[in-house]
Amino acid sequence: MRVGIGFDSHNLVPRRKLVLGGVEIPFDRGLEGHSDADVLIHAVIDALLGAACLGNIGDHFPDTDGRYREIASTKLLVETMEKVRHVGFGVVNVDSVIIAERPKLSPYMETMRKTVAQTMNVPHDRLSIKAKTTEGKDATGRGEAIAAYAVVLLDESG
Ligand code: MG
Repeated sequence: MRVGIGFDSHNLVPRRKLVLGGVEIPFDRGLEGHSDADVLIHAVIDALLGAACLGNIGDHFPDTDGRYREIASTKLLVETMEKVRHVGFGVVNVDSVIIAERPKLSPYMETMRKTVAQTMNVPHDRLSIKAKTTEGKDATGRGEAIAAYAVVLLDESG
């Protein structure tokens, strides 16, 4: 068994789509970044790479590389799963937390969960996504950013 942890945070800015867990969520702002800036998927990718001791998301998908500009992070997740399976690992389970004051994410949680599980090709009962607010205490709490944490457990079934 191998465990990995991932974290990511992006600023909320005008004139960007908000994409979380591969799902476009209606909101007046979106996350700033080189790709679609999907913090949840970026945290999951870093947890997968960490568990497999394969470095981090920036090593594999550098933001200096034009191929990744505006790319859907689901594509990066598919590539990451290929890398993880290539070195012999399979996913036991994933747990994750999105930290966002707004928008309200509960209507989208099931769709996000199914989308991320399908993208990873794992049963959706092995993938958990939760959402939290931080009540104004920091940049996420003030609605200036959205952050995500993920933990992944791998075994040698890949
Ligand atoms: Mg990121």
